[in-house]
Amino acid sequence: MLRSLGAEVREVRTPDDLEGLDGLVMPGGESTTMTLGIEREGLAEPLRSFGKPIFGTCAGLILLDRAHLGLMDIAAERNAFGRQLHSFEEDLEFPDMEGGPVRAVFIRAPWITEHGPEVEVIAAVDGHPVAARQGDLLAISFHPELGEDDRLHRLFLRQVTAAREGGTLAAWNAGRPPRPPCS
Ligand code: GLN
Repeated sequence: MLRSLGAEVREVRTPDDLEGLDGLVMPGGESTTMTLGIEREGLAEPLRSFGKPIFGTCAGLILLDRAHLGLMDIAAERNAFGRQLHSFEEDLEFPDMEGGPVRAVFIRAPWITEHGPEVEVIAAVDGHPVAARQGDLLAISFHPELGEDDRLHRLFLRQVTAAREGGTLAAWNAGRPPRPPCS
């Protein structure tokens, strides 16, 4: 999907593979297995200091949380929708997203149980946060690569472009009122 949007992509398996990337997708899969791979390859520190936009989807959201890489101030609950809802689809509304709701495919998906003040929740299912962002990091509970809708990949690529051009917050905040200053 990223290729079809004009991005040049490669797989990351070792710290050297991160070299020169403008952004990173941490995909769905199995977070325990992925954690073992990250440990085996010594990827935890390079990922923590990557400093570029990251898009975590499903298991990738779990890896970004406090209990794993700790890159986002969120706590994720694995398989949160329970056994009877191994997999389902849901129309999700996102703020500032043109073209109506996103049809989201959830597969043994996590949700976010807690988050800090820096985290903005941007979509929820039955009141449970399933999409959030914090600075250059975007995390969603579902699989945006399944289906035809590429709007979340576009959103991420806009963030990658903005970060590369130095205007990190400009892309996210386009058209939104300025935030009140911190007190
Ligand atoms: N249930 C998986 C886990 O805990 C995530 C599932 C997925 O990525 N689709 O890691």
